[in-house]
Amino acid sequence: MIYMNLKSAFKKGGCPVCRLLREQEERYFFNLLYENVNDGPTRGLIISSMGLCSYHAWELQARELKEWNDGLGTGIIYEDLAGRVLNELSHYLSPLKQHLFEKYKDSKIKIDAGHKTDTGRTCRWKSSLPGKYLLKIIKAVTKKKKPSEALAGRLSPEKECHICKSLNQSEEAYLEWLVSGLSAPLFREAYLASGGLCLPHLRKILKFVEEKWAAYLLIDKAERELKTLDNNLKEYVRKHAWDFRFEPKYPEEQASWIRAVAFFAGEYRGNAADTVISTREKALFDYSRHSQHHSKDNKENKSLR
Ligand SMILES: [Zn+2]
Ligand SMILES: [Zn+2]
Repeated sequence: MIYMNLKSAFKKGGCPVCRLLREQEERYFFNLLYENVNDGPTRGLIISSMGLCSYHAWELQARELKEWNDGLGTGIIYEDLAGRVLNELSHYLSPLKQHLFEKYKDSKIKIDAGHKTDTGRTCRWKSSLPGKYLLKIIKAVTKKKKPSEALAGRLSPEKECHICKSLNQSEEAYLEWLVSGLSAPLFREAYLASGGLCLPHLRKILKFVEEKWAAYLLIDKAERELKTLDNNLKEYVRKHAWDFRFEPKYPEEQASWIRAVAFFAGEYRGNAADTVISTREKALFDYSRHSQHHSKDNKENKSLR
């Protein structure tokens, strides 16, 4: 299966390993959003990494928006996570608030008793409590040099993003199978006819190579590809000069600056970068408008009181 996948990716252009990993990522996101949002084991993996890594979290958001023009799946996943983080924060604050409430319930300083929550009785902070008292109380209750270090631990992921982990495992498997496949003539020919590996994958595959001839073959292929790219780049740059502006510009030269980025960085992984940025900007704008309304409402409420 891995040989077949590699052979078919050889024909499609660009780094074959980058391509296969991207296809795997796409399939995973589709399945997650289509049927696995409420799947227990999947959610367990997301909880153990306290959400996805930054890259995959934004990709999830972008793909759901692109495919379904909606964010329900992402919303469900992150609503659950927000509840878990809130519980940790409340659990940390609870004894401190309780202490504060007991200490000041008969004094002039007004402490709101608050409401019952899962973590016990809480009270809301009041600005009327002088800062120096608050500091004293916090020190007395926590009794630790670094009072929030343990909480930082509980807010940290137990495991890495499971999509990253799965892609790393696949990447290793593809590279190992690619090396071993080079001894088969048809596979080797297919590889030599491909666009070759990007630099990050070349670096990684060289660590798997045990035989000299295979190392030579991979490095020779990389050198030939890079020489062609370098020539195209040189021509692309040269033809921007005024004196050579009328010389014909060939497609491989015009594409060279993009191919150069792909070679050094690996193929583009994102799917909807423009949508991600514009949606995030809109969310920021909408959220700030909401906050303005909120503070305006508060002011109006106070003046009514
Ligand atoms: Zn690659
Ligand atoms: Zn990830």
